Amino acid sequence: MKKIIIIGAGIIGLSISFYLKKNNFDIRVLEKGKVGMEASYASAGMLAAQSEFDFYEKFMDFCIKSRSMYAEFCKDIESASGIAVEFQKCGMLRPALTEEQEKHLKNNYKWQKKQGFEIEFLPGDELRKIEPELSENILSGLYTKNDGQVNNRKLMEALITANKKIGNKLIENCNVKNYIIKNNKIRGVETNNGIFNADTIINTSGAWSSLISPGIIPNFEVKPIHGQLVSLQANKKMLDKVIFASILGKGGYMVPRKDNTIILGSTMEDMGFEKKVTDEGINSILKTAYDIVPEFKNMKIIEKWSGFRPFTDDKLPVIGKTNIKNLILATAHGRNGILLAPITVKAVTELVVNDNLVSEIKDFGVERFNK
Ligand SMILES: Cc1cc2nc3c(=O)[nH]c(=O)nc-3n(C[C@H](O)[C@H](O)[C@H](O)COP(=O)(O)OP(=O)(O)OC[C@H]3O[C@@H](n4cnc5c(N)ncnc54)[C@H](O)[C@@H]3O)c2cc1C
Repeated sequence: MKKIIIIGAGIIGLSISFYLKKNNFDIRVLEKGKVGMEASYASAGMLAAQSEFDFYEKFMDFCIKSRSMYAEFCKDIESASGIAVEFQKCGMLRPALTEEQEKHLKNNYKWQKKQGFEIEFLPGDELRKIEPELSENILSGLYTKNDGQVNNRKLMEALITANKKIGNKLIENCNVKNYIIKNNKIRGVETNNGIFNADTIINTSGAWSSLISPGIIPNFEVKPIHGQLVSLQANKKMLDKVIFASILGKGGYMVPRKDNTIILGSTMEDMGFEKKVTDEGINSILKTAYDIVPEFKNMKIIEKWSGFRPFTDDKLPVIGKTNIKNLILATAHGRNGILLAPITVKAVTELVVNDNLVSEIKDFGVERFNK
């Protein structure tokens, strides 16, 4: 049986291992800490394929395609695990508080329409009819009804359970240090727990991806971008839709979960691997949230946390083969790794099973950094 090692048990590693098992491989997922506890746990779980974008770029099509695969993806994992992951195509609102923001969003509406995407531009009163808790100060905003959310913590729990049920081995406290390569072909990995041999290795280790055998893949570098979050507990349903109140990287978002928790995010900090929740970070997130939904001021904070988004310099994912035979990368999903899991799985499965490079990932090869 073909042996596959997946490095890193985040959403990307565990989704790939879950689907690859259908091909009857012997799969081990090696995790340096506890499974499913880094970015994929820290995330807000938004599926913001349209709301995330201030300008059109080709990468947006990739995000929209993955969004269209999400319902099916969740159904597969729910039925294998027996755990509900709270996927909701609930829609997103993107409000403007100033005339400048309004101008930006009107323009956003125009180019999204031109691309053929479903989107509405609504006056403040219409937005408040949809979400009555929104501030009277909101002038207008965008409504993208196909964006949504998933409860990423439940999804990770479900992926872990599903993987175990189908017989994949998840090995914790197993830190991969180096690849073992002979004749330019991958043979295995060296870890703090000894050597593991494999026919194929898939590196899905998120923000840490380029720290294994550093330099062996030319110009491959993934950096951690720290993000802080905070959650509030309401005793009633405050919002139905996700509110994406960020324009050109300024502002934040509000994600209402089914249990009435509201997840508020987030900061973008380039400060290495230092996990740190600060008063400054949390206060800036709360200020945006209070401006958009004043009633949030009366709600109790229940948790503050942070995590590392995996980013390359060009802010695009790295998915595909490398200069070393049978070493595959599936990483650097930045702000959208939860959203991009289904399409990444599809692409990697095609590579591993059929040696087929699907057209969707042609721009995401690591060789682009050598140009
Ligand atoms: C604050 C915040 C908010 C976010 N919000 C959203 C959102 O709303 N929507 C969205 O789509 N995305 C969001 N993201 C981004 C998303 O969470 C990430 O892109 C995604 O989780 C990346 O998944 P991953 O599996 O690649 O990485 P991770 O979940 O980080 O998993 C990588 C795993 O690899 C392990 N590992 C690392 N090095 C090694 C090694 N040498 N050996 C063994 N194991 C190793 C790590 O311990 C980790 O468990 C957010 C991220 C953050 C931080």
